[in-house]
Amino acid sequence: MHDVLPALLAETAERASRYLAESADRHVAPKPADVAALARLGGPVPQSPTNPAQTLALLDAIGSPGTVVSAGPRFFGFVVGGSLPAALAANWLAGAWDQNAALQISSPVSAKLEDIALEWVVELLGLPPGSGGGFVTGTTMANLCGLAAARTTLLSRAGWNVENDGVFGAPNLHVIVGDEVHVSLLKALAILGLGRARVTRVTTDNQGRIRPELVPELDALTIVCLQAGNVNTGAFDPCEAIIAKARAAGAWVHVDGAFGIWAAVSPAFAPHLSGAQQADSWAIDCHKWLNVPYDSGLCVVRDPAHLHAAMSGSAAYLMVADGRDPWHFTPECSRRSRGVEIWAAIHSLGRAGLRDLIERNCRQARLFADRLANAGFAILNEVVLNQVLVSFGTDEQTRQAIAAVQADGTCWCGGSQWHGQAVMRISVSSWATTDADVELSAAAIIRIAIQITGPVR
Ligand SMILES: *Cc1c(COP(=O)(O)O)cnc(C)c1O
Repeated sequence: MHDVLPALLAETAERASRYLAESADRHVAPKPADVAALARLGGPVPQSPTNPAQTLALLDAIGSPGTVVSAGPRFFGFVVGGSLPAALAANWLAGAWDQNAALQISSPVSAKLEDIALEWVVELLGLPPGSGGGFVTGTTMANLCGLAAARTTLLSRAGWNVENDGVFGAPNLHVIVGDEVHVSLLKALAILGLGRARVTRVTTDNQGRIRPELVPELDALTIVCLQAGNVNTGAFDPCEAIIAKARAAGAWVHVDGAFGIWAAVSPAFAPHLSGAQQADSWAIDCHKWLNVPYDSGLCVVRDPAHLHAAMSGSAAYLMVADGRDPWHFTPECSRRSRGVEIWAAIHSLGRAGLRDLIERNCRQARLFADRLANAGFAILNEVVLNQVLVSFGTDEQTRQAIAAVQADGTCWCGGSQWHGQAVMRISVSSWATTDADVELSAAAIIRIAIQITGPVR
């Protein structure tokens, strides 16, 4: 078996390199015929072995054309970043290592790289030194972990052990969210037994920011959920005043900072965070703006003991080591080694490279907004970060324009609703995007939209 590996892996590298080299010229959304062709990967269960090189060849021939080219430079949907070269390469090496990241003893290198990556992220984002963290699939799970730590801690302070005794009969926890809360946070509340509908929703302003004067009275049984980076507008909740009030009341503050929290690495954009670093827990996506491969998120909690209390389990055969055993900080036990790519991304970019990535994408979002506004289309958000919301007239015209942009294939942008109005949402979040890609994409969008709306001025 091992003698086929060198040739197989070399061929894989060749195929992957070719795929990525062609990514700038590919139709960004796969063509319907290529999506239909994916059925050819199925059929009856293979009854006999196939040579791995043939398996790979089939996967490339049928699978690659069925991809959305989100690794390429002109994908602007869903705040999806690409994969940095060092992060992708580290992912391959880690695949060869096939480490189980659950325990120090099952993978010393994974455990060490997680320790280092956690420290680096905490330092880069200006979070409290000594914070703890768990490496999870993404911000959905990071929200779940942060809120679990909040639930455990506040109930334990009230004399209730939620891990042992469950939520029934426990003291009532109050949860406060903004009207623009991300759906994943509500899902986490639902899973935790805190309920997605029993929250208090605070009215937000025209950019989706919580209006701090409307935050109700807080107490030591309250979890306040703030957002650093609205998924539509990119706007930040005004954290400073709300967190000061929460601290005084003994409440817990959780920040969903999926992509926006990375603004902390730029002196120009960090002021938007307005003290979000003073919270108790943060949900962070690494597969978005840090540009590491999926799945990669991080839950950071100010006091590691609080996350540990919510996530740790024990069994006699699972040896307990000194220091941080990763599985005490995550819902999962066996899992892949997520710290590897985060370590590689930060090691290769350095603080300056990461700052450059964030600032370049924000400048490119401005460039998009300027081009579209100059063509006569309405930009519906203040472009404070990497997000642009544009309307092409009526909701029907906007929806038609989005479908036509996706079908054209020069670039890909998704649709959303903003204050009851259909919008196209542009998220610039990839290292691979150049200014020329933005110009090419803006020109395509304008050309396509004008075919639908007619001349705008
Ligand atoms: C993307 C995003 C999420 C969900 O993150 P996943 O990584 O997809 O689980 C949550 N909150 C915000 C603000 C996001 O942008």
